[in-house]
Amino acid sequence: MNIVEFKGQKIPYKIKRKKIKNLYLRVKEDFVEISCSNDFSEEFIKSFILQKAPKFIESLKPKDYYYFFGQKIKGEIDKNIYKEILPTVIFPIIEKYSKKMQLIPSKVSFRFNSTRWGSCSYKNSLTFNNYLAKLPIELIEYVVAHELAHIKHKDHSSKFWAFLAQFMPDYKERRKRLREFERII
Ligand SMILES: [Zn+2]
Repeated sequence: MNIVEFKGQKIPYKIKRKKIKNLYLRVKEDFVEISCSNDFSEEFIKSFILQKAPKFIESLKPKDYYYFFGQKIKGEIDKNIYKEILPTVIFPIIEKYSKKMQLIPSKVSFRFNSTRWGSCSYKNSLTFNNYLAKLPIELIEYVVAHELAHIKHKDHSSKFWAFLAQFMPDYKERRKRLREFERII
């Protein structure tokens, strides 16, 4: 991990060298990830991060609160607690929607992910983000129903959304709330 300093604050960053034209900056949980080709020098990358720093520096600061199933709680949490508790909450939800929708995942696994809540592989194996334990139950339900629906429809076509709506008529509302939640989390 490399470090660049902005107004006394250390900004850790990682560079992923890829064969791409542009340079992309992503703010991860506690570092910045840069994707670009070998054409960009380390000096250029540093100055790029510094230019953008005022925008994202807030989000890299350690927070004095955490989210737990939708509740905002003062203090810190060991992220392994999310990992331990999520399966106990999510498996009954998976079972409930799996029965309703008549769709059975080939496998369910968990990982920490900073960019997505869940995914469905082409072999119908579902992966859920341990950080789902930060969200209110209704939003965990949405993510579960969404990924299960991908067993039937692998894309986000209108057929996919119509299918999901059959089992979760208020999915649009939940999807909107999920986006809002992402911003505050
Ligand atoms: Zn999807």
